[in-house]
Amino acid sequence: MKNLFLREENGKIKSQILNYAEHVNPISGEKKVYTREEIGKMSSNEFAAKEKEIMIQMKFIGIPTEQEVKISKAQDYENDPTMEYVWITQFTAGTCDRCADLNGTRYKSLEDVEELPPLHNRCACEVIKTVEA
Ligand SMILES: [Zn+2]
Repeated sequence: MKNLFLREENGKIKSQILNYAEHVNPISGEKKVYTREEIGKMSSNEFAAKEKEIMIQMKFIGIPTEQEVKISKAQDYENDPTMEYVWITQFTAGTCDRCADLNGTRYKSLEDVEELPPLHNRCACEVIKTVEA
């Protein structure tokens, strides 16, 4: 469980990632999480084809094991009093000022988010669930 962490810009561990299955890959736009096992089984051609998706996932949520993905799905986070939503901005050339400002903003509930992503063309920002690490 200790591996499921969200790292801040400075590398400090701040929050625990709750549901890997909800992660949307900003390149493919699909709900997809590459696991260590899955990457280990890829041929070099398969890896090359998915490399950008894997690298951006690594940057934002890391590469979990299959077991970690299973555990993160099973967690009873709805009843955890430290549960919060965090806005994660995917910085690209088209990222708007609003998204840039919102990076790292924490919310108690999704209703507190003024407007959910996407906020701009090709916006791949996410609002993800976390609990205190
Ligand atoms: Zn955005």
